[in-house]
Amino acid sequence: MTKNTFDEIFEKIKEYPTIILHRHTSPDPDAIGSQAGLSRALKAKFPDKKILCAGENDEGDLAWINTMDEVSVDDYKGALVITTDTANTPRISNKNYDKGDLLIKIDHHPDVDPYADMSYVDPEAPAASQIIVDFLNAENLPITKDVAYPLYAGIVGDTGRFMYPETTAHTFEVVKQLAETGINISEIARNISDVTFAQAKLQAAVLDYMTVDPCGAAYAVLTQKDLKDLGITDDQASVTVSTPGRIKDIKAWNVFVEKPDGTYRVHYRSKGPVINHLAEKHDGGGHALASGANAKDMDEVKQIFAEVVDVTKKYNEEHE
Ligand code: AMP
Repeated sequence: MTKNTFDEIFEKIKEYPTIILHRHTSPDPDAIGSQAGLSRALKAKFPDKKILCAGENDEGDLAWINTMDEVSVDDYKGALVITTDTANTPRISNKNYDKGDLLIKIDHHPDVDPYADMSYVDPEAPAASQIIVDFLNAENLPITKDVAYPLYAGIVGDTGRFMYPETTAHTFEVVKQLAETGINISEIARNISDVTFAQAKLQAAVLDYMTVDPCGAAYAVLTQKDLKDLGITDDQASVTVSTPGRIKDIKAWNVFVEKPDGTYRVHYRSKGPVINHLAEKHDGGGHALASGANAKDMDEVKQIFAEVVDVTKKYNEEHE
């Protein structure tokens, strides 16, 4: 699904004096890591270019991977803008992304919204950060320790520490190369997996509230009150999303997190049943086994879970 080659993208990078990198809102380690890794390598290779990381001051607990630059609207004049790890325009952080001269998308989600002038999209790659490593190697760009650190974080994050099925032998070739730069892989893994005491309590609440259908589908709803009582922000609540999956019999699940306006952020996860086409029906999208969406009220929450039960039952029939 790539559309453009690495060489074609690199030709544009060489051409433009200013390059601004964007990633998705509510970032995860792969969003920040792919953006930071690419920007650091480009800065090292092209010290005279202006290379900037743009966002909405929404790094939150991920500021240990990278922080954003001050980017003004004037910076976009005649600039090349590159998004990493961002499937669709509503998810791009921030909205100045279309003020540049040329827009390039580098991503590993299904290309449901081909919004850019040029793109390299590989939905089989487990992380956008892995694509960035392949790009840097293809174009002989430097992968120093400083570059490797965020990219390793991105790969560890999006592979669920090498657990998800998109992880391949090539992923291990890539992380071997990154590890050989001398990055502290244990520190990165800890930074990704450690939770605060409050987050651990919220994970316990998810297990406590969870409804499990006999087919192996499960869901839990977290309210604003749950978050407030524990002093947890909406983004920090995402740490609960993988919790139900640790239970053997659960095959597909939703965690619904109430937003301050009373609507719900929806997380879909699966070990087999494909759920991204379900998320697309609810103002969302994502990967076959990990997607996100939005629900306006509890009726839509119930409808979403009914759909997950449905695909899980079909999956069971097909795999009996
Ligand atoms: P989340 O449940 O928010 O961690 O998201 C899981 C995956 O789905 C990530 O790859 C996100 O980029 C993607 N995703 C989440 N929300 C949306 C959305 N509203 N639209 C499209 N993709 C999304």
